[in-house]
Amino acid sequence: MSRVLVIEDEEDLQQILDYNLRQSGCEVSSAMRGKEGLKLAAQQAPDLVILDLMLPDMAGTEVCKQLKADPKTRHVPVLMLTAKGEEIDRVLGFELGAEDYVTKPFSVRELMLRVQAILRRTRTSQGEGSQIFEFGVLRVDRAAHRVWVQGEEIELTALEFRLLTTLADRKNRVQTRAMLLDDVWGIKVDVATRTVDTHVKRLREKLGAAGEYVETVRGVGYRFAESPSASVA
Ligand code: CA
Repeated sequence: MSRVLVIEDEEDLQQILDYNLRQSGCEVSSAMRGKEGLKLAAQQAPDLVILDLMLPDMAGTEVCKQLKADPKTRHVPVLMLTAKGEEIDRVLGFELGAEDYVTKPFSVRELMLRVQAILRRTRTSQGEGSQIFEFGVLRVDRAAHRVWVQGEEIELTALEFRLLTTLADRKNRVQTRAMLLDDVWGIKVDVATRTVDTHVKRLREKLGAAGEYVETVRGVGYRFAESPSASVA
């Protein structure tokens, strides 16, 4: 059973989410404020956090930032609820590591589809067995969601991890920003493609010596190197 934490201060919306999530077989807990939500997230390590960006005590983006900064909650996917037209919040949310967003007012059906897509992706990546991917100085354990570079473990967010494995799965094939947005973020809309660039940049920094395996294909997108020796001397 999937556990979902809803951080939303509008009571009727919280009740609608609670009801529909339970109907679809999830265990649900709710918080009205950001601080309370952060506390529950750390205690429960839910499978998904649904996070409203307009909370009475703190900005949802700040809640997202703190979730992604805490090792206990870093891997928990975040689905943001944003008000109409708040493009800046969406871009910021993605840069902070949110998985997806839904704009208010939304249809419950659409929201539930997004929720199920995120939970399915999480389950898939957990169910792929103990696949170890080794490439030059890089080692990835998909099942354990762990990454090492030159024997040193590095911490990636869920999104960075999926970005890395998506690129690595398609070694030596160019991935456009639109393809990555579609497959890694799960969205078809043109949320500023610089979101992709920002994440690739951060991923490379974290990968250190293995960062060069993620190659830029000028004007097109990104590609995982064909062989480690081709890029890292
Ligand atoms: Ca609100």
